[in-house]
Amino acid sequence: MSDEVRSYDVYDIAVVGGGAAGTMAAIRASALKKRVVLIESNDSIGKKILITGKGRCNLTNTAPIDVFIEKFGRQGKFLRSAFFNFFNEDLIDFFRSKGMEVKAERQGRVFPATDKARSVVEVLARCLKEGKVEQLYNATLLKIKKKDDIFDLEIEGGRLIKAKNVILATGGASYKATGSTGSGFRIAADLGHEITPLKPALVPLKVREEWVKSLQGIALENVRLTFEYDKKRHFTDVGEIIFTHFGASGPLILDNSGDIMAVLGRHKEIRLLIDLKPGLRSSQLEERLLRDFRENGKVSLKSVMKNYLPQRLIAVFLDIAGVNGTKASSQITQKERRALIAVFKAFPLTITGALPLEDAMVTAGGVALRDIDPRTMESRIIPGLYFAGEIIDGAASSGGYNLQQAFSTGYLAGQSAAERQ
Ligand SMILES: Cc1cc2nc3c(=O)[nH]c(=O)nc-3n(C[C@H](O)[C@H](O)[C@H](O)COP(=O)(O)OP(=O)(O)OC[C@H]3O[C@@H](n4cnc5c(N)ncnc54)[C@H](O)[C@@H]3O)c2cc1C
Repeated sequence: MSDEVRSYDVYDIAVVGGGAAGTMAAIRASALKKRVVLIESNDSIGKKILITGKGRCNLTNTAPIDVFIEKFGRQGKFLRSAFFNFFNEDLIDFFRSKGMEVKAERQGRVFPATDKARSVVEVLARCLKEGKVEQLYNATLLKIKKKDDIFDLEIEGGRLIKAKNVILATGGASYKATGSTGSGFRIAADLGHEITPLKPALVPLKVREEWVKSLQGIALENVRLTFEYDKKRHFTDVGEIIFTHFGASGPLILDNSGDIMAVLGRHKEIRLLIDLKPGLRSSQLEERLLRDFRENGKVSLKSVMKNYLPQRLIAVFLDIAGVNGTKASSQITQKERRALIAVFKAFPLTITGALPLEDAMVTAGGVALRDIDPRTMESRIIPGLYFAGEIIDGAASSGGYNLQQAFSTGYLAGQSAAERQ
């Protein structure tokens, strides 16, 4: 904790939470010449940012505003002002102006050119320093009280911080080891805000099949999923899934997990079929197999399968198809070939549930939108109190939308708090 911080100082703005939302709020407010203190329970900023995008940080997306708004579903419209005020290009310009180049990848996902989330955190840390934001680490906010237009922030250990405005940017209630323990929800609720039910969003799914454990870590990059429920088939786009020791994760699973969890309330299990070769019709696949079997007649089927599948998937695949992998390719019958094609086009799994909130990428639910003014992020209940980031109700699919939400709402909250008379 900084020795410079004295308990009788009254800051213009106290920002609680040093994630994407809180750091951006503090940076913006300090750029507007306000005296800002950042209160963070960890010993440094950006613990969660460091694990985003598998350590590469997918910080935003190149999509237009309307797509962003659609991605947040029912909560999307609330974010319009925040996005208009500070959107993806502004964020990219911000990082570029601080010397961090970015690159866009498939589906418009934007990453630092270094492929390192640390680059993002380093820029934010530098800006906090340049803006002379006082930074309190290992400082957990327990309670906020407001008296005579001044907020008293009670910090664990007995310290009291005083501020004219407060920005609560304490994140959600997932991946608690990163610091987002959900304590901000209780603090907001104590001040009279409604907290909509917290639910996991973007969460890995569990499957019944025991053999999935042997596939742990295998990533399938270009597959299409079909979920079967309510006597209908629900198709996804082509994308990536990753097998885990309990089931499946990866963008395609995470992005569909919200719908699937809703359906799992009505059904005990849901059938999932993976099209391992969505770019090929069954007839095209058969032609390729025939050609390969002809050219490698003496080679075992399981060896030829290496041209089609990751090594560790082959045994499970052949087991499901019911075809003996030690057979020479030339001995594979038409019936067996058709059985292989059927599994290529519909590799089956049974979804039984989802991991808990703690293991979700994002927490859906939070401070109710009706309690926040979307033009400023200020509480409609306590003037001078602002919200930013994941603490606010709502969540989007993967692709950089959630971090942009945190940066945009953080920027707007910092600006509004700084401009408040
Ligand atoms: C594994 C994983 C990968 C992800 N990948 C991506 C991705 O690539 N792209 C994307 O857009 N989104 C991604 N997300 C989601 C994204 O990380 C979050 O939406 C975003 O970080 C939320 O930012 P925030 O500032 O609101 O909250 P957080 O980053 O959670 O920050 C909140 C901060 O508040 C502090 N805090 C909490 N309570 C207190 C308290 N009482 N007192 C003091 N400090 C407190 C915490 O220590 C924490 O530092 C990912 C999430 C996870 C878990």
